[in-house]
Amino acid sequence: MIFHTIYIKYGVRALLINPWIYDFKAFDFWNKPLGLLIVARLLKEAGFKVELIDCLDRRSPYFQTNTRTDDYGRGKYYYEVVDKPKLYKNIARYYKRYGIPKKIFVEVINRLDEPDIIFVTSSMTYWYPGVFEVIRLIKEKFPRRKVILGGIYATLCKTHAEKYSGADIVFTGPAEQGLLELLSNLDYPVSTKSTAWLLPDFSLYNKLDYGVILTSRGCPFHCTYCATNFLFPEFKSFPEQQIFEQLIFFNQRCSNIAFFDDALLYNKNFTLLLKKIIAGNYNLKFHTSNGLHCRYINKELAELMLKANFKTIYLSLETTNPEVQKRTGGKVSTREFLKAVKLLKTVGFPADAIHTYILYGIPGQDYQEAIASINLCHQLGIHPHLCEFSPIPFTEEYKKTGFDEHTDPLFHNNLFYAWFYPEYKNELYQRIKGLLTQSPTSQDPG
Ligand code: SF4
Repeated sequence: MIFHTIYIKYGVRALLINPWIYDFKAFDFWNKPLGLLIVARLLKEAGFKVELIDCLDRRSPYFQTNTRTDDYGRGKYYYEVVDKPKLYKNIARYYKRYGIPKKIFVEVINRLDEPDIIFVTSSMTYWYPGVFEVIRLIKEKFPRRKVILGGIYATLCKTHAEKYSGADIVFTGPAEQGLLELLSNLDYPVSTKSTAWLLPDFSLYNKLDYGVILTSRGCPFHCTYCATNFLFPEFKSFPEQQIFEQLIFFNQRCSNIAFFDDALLYNKNFTLLLKKIIAGNYNLKFHTSNGLHCRYINKELAELMLKANFKTIYLSLETTNPEVQKRTGGKVSTREFLKAVKLLKTVGFPADAIHTYILYGIPGQDYQEAIASINLCHQLGIHPHLCEFSPIPFTEEYKKTGFDEHTDPLFHNNLFYAWFYPEYKNELYQRIKGLLTQSPTSQDPG
């Protein structure tokens, strides 16, 4: 009761942490913890005081990396080599902790006043070692405080997280759906239980090399290798006013904006939004990060994107094999892809602004497919980006791998998966990699 009165008087102090990435490779490809930043906004609106430690912030107030930032705000993370988990011991690559040095993190939490509650987010399922390490350190420092773990790993691997993470509570799904109720049930004073969908709060950053914007969440497609439908079962677009508030905020702080929607062009408001961006005369360069759905690209949209100052366009192709396109969800055909590339070029996008994701390693997929897809991109003069398949729980493809909820998420690592399965150790793997080095760019974020 005493605590409750103090909370009401001074506000609950919430510490939010975005953990390190533990992996063989990582790159800051407009990577911000959007879910955690939405939690920040929700908590602020509910009367909490919020503090953020983002271990992956390359402009962290606690540690300045000297890695180069490219013209579009992206760059390499600082890293430290760490011991590999046993499972990875035969992989001839360094396993690394990406983000601020661990020593700095410990110094920062040692200087902090004790928070009332701690929120830790999680991203890729196989990055959980970074999540566990953060929880271990924070629990060591503040043993009496509750740690709530949320995010993608927590949602997709709940049983694993509950058993091994060390968090007091594992929260699954979007924060807007139930986080404030949970806090209220735990007896924290919550001044609103709004279920409105809110945009991420970027004001917690001191410096930004780029901003990230969501105009919607969810996706109407059901690709067999993607868990978006499980994570966000409903497609929802954000109110225009919130989006423009974000744009104005970013316009004063940085010059690059990446749209991070899963289905940006499915959002019926996007054309209108582009017209308003053009009218607003912002001093911003825009990018799409997740692959766009080619079928929604028409001449008007392509012209508007050019005029709005889009500098990089990522398209989804994944494969040129029509059978695989259909079997995996039918989100794109090669004809639609070719038409989209032609339209983008016709309205004036230079070929080297156009990038294409190509997926390889889907169970049963022939390597020749990846080679054919890369060759097509080369013929068109655009950039192919190879994405190694990662088995994701609650997807159709996951079932085919034979993995289940008891499988250690380290098995989901795309590099490990590609290495683990004998058919993927084929010399064709080397050929694919060789082809990519002939691409018009060496800027492959993978
Ligand atoms: S279109 Fe993209 S986001 Fe939607 S289900 Fe397919 S892969 Fe996932």
